[in-house]
Amino acid sequence: MRCSLTVSSKRRILCVFPAYTPSFGTFSHAYPLMGGVKAFMPPQGLLVIAAYMPETWECRFIDENIKATTPEEFAWADAVFVSGMHIQEGQIHDIRRRAHAAGKVAVLGGPSVSGAPEKYPDFDYLHCGEIGDATDRLIAILDESCARPAAQVVLETKDRLGLSDFPAPAYEAVPLKRYLIGSLQFSSGCPYRCEFCDIPQLYGRQPRLKSPEQLCSELDAIVSQPGHPAVVYFVDDNFIGNRKATRDMLPVLVEWQKKNNYPLQFACEATLNMAKQPEILELMRQANFMTVFVGIETPEADALKGIDKTHNAAVPMYEAIETLNSYGLEVTSGIILGLDSDTDKSEQNLIDFIDKSAIPVLTINLLQALPKTPLWDRLEREGRLVHDASLESNVLFTRPHDTVVSSWRRAIAHAYTPERLFERFKHQCETTYPHRIKTPAAGKVTFTNLRRGLILGFNIITRVGLFSDYRKPFWKAAGYALKRGQIEAVFNMGFVAHHLIRFTREALRGEHNASFYAAKAAEAEAALERGFWANARRRFIPEREAA
Ligand code: SF4
Repeated sequence: MRCSLTVSSKRRILCVFPAYTPSFGTFSHAYPLMGGVKAFMPPQGLLVIAAYMPETWECRFIDENIKATTPEEFAWADAVFVSGMHIQEGQIHDIRRRAHAAGKVAVLGGPSVSGAPEKYPDFDYLHCGEIGDATDRLIAILDESCARPAAQVVLETKDRLGLSDFPAPAYEAVPLKRYLIGSLQFSSGCPYRCEFCDIPQLYGRQPRLKSPEQLCSELDAIVSQPGHPAVVYFVDDNFIGNRKATRDMLPVLVEWQKKNNYPLQFACEATLNMAKQPEILELMRQANFMTVFVGIETPEADALKGIDKTHNAAVPMYEAIETLNSYGLEVTSGIILGLDSDTDKSEQNLIDFIDKSAIPVLTINLLQALPKTPLWDRLEREGRLVHDASLESNVLFTRPHDTVVSSWRRAIAHAYTPERLFERFKHQCETTYPHRIKTPAAGKVTFTNLRRGLILGFNIITRVGLFSDYRKPFWKAAGYALKRGQIEAVFNMGFVAHHLIRFTREALRGEHNASFYAAKAAEAEAALERGFWANARRRFIPEREAA
């Protein structure tokens, strides 16, 4: 639903989403292969805010991952709304600078300001927390006046809007065809309390839910846009945070797919104990889920105790991964190096895990303390928070910083050596892809999909299959997939590997930070200097990567 306040003024709201700093999970190197794709995923939060604005207020939406905001667009606006994560901090400040230079009031909401409002002293209004009473207060203030206040005003949501009252995100305000994948939210919050994670504090431990019917109408809106992405990612913090709700929702999703000839594939993030839920897994298979991101964090079972993530050990790790694979779900894994429990053996244990699990995509990051987490509080007590932009993390590790960073470098070099990466994809051809349901061609054979497939096929054959130095391992795995009729797998491994191999080489040259959550100062500056078009070509990550 929209805001129910009665407003007397007409306002023009310019929503601007900052460019992302590239990471393993952004797939930015894959976009040039994909004909017209410029960005990773539509930003749910700011699209919901745009949809919530009073009906008489005009909204424009700019995702600076796709295009830079022009001076004319700033001039058009009465107020500029910005949202983003910590990793976008530099870009958030830059949008604020441009808004102020145009004489506009600047408002900041979203996860970064909600976690650390002190980072943003120069914004006029801070909207902390989710959409709710603070949003209504903000609308009332702007209805009264869009002049910049004499001092910063902080508005904090005490009373959240229920997810069942959320308006559908303003998908119509963004060109969905420019995104690699679509986004959708079913629930918010997570019942667990992993030490390093800010989700429970920001979004609560009691997952709140949309109705399955809400989801279906949002899916209708997505597929009504020509050229929409073929994959939609559930941005829920933990897809099985409320198992009963997920179990009740999935049959509705299956029906929606059947009714529409399976136009979409799905992905989500969840905890590894999902392996204990065969009913949910089978329903996910029927709904055409392809990938699940799991925060495995560490292969060392004892280390899970230290970060309060013992729920990951509910099923033996390899058994759990095999179970997910047997339902056609390719696992993507988050890994953290630099935990207090790390020893001299941790690097080798991780390398063994990468090889044995055969998970193709792993986001391997150094531990980073986020505000509003138990980890932050503990490290602050222990005097182990370091604020040095030249370092790769704000954590004073128990092992020497350089040792941890060197481990990270060796681990990513091992994981993304082309031969090993394509070997892991080959393993998926055998263990995972054959378990997926066969969907009718009718839902997929559209002019846009054919065109996209031709462009992607041409680019993969030329750029990966002919001109790359990893063409041999690519063809070895591709040949294996083709023999099994897994053409989609060839496309998928081609563009994913292309990004991962190239991004790893850049990271090993020192061009990227070892922590996903904190852009190195130099990188943030470089992002600003590159200019927005150049940034839009680089790219990003899920808005709230957790689980
Ligand atoms: S890391 Fe995942 S499982 Fe742990 S609290 Fe965060 S969202 Fe929940």
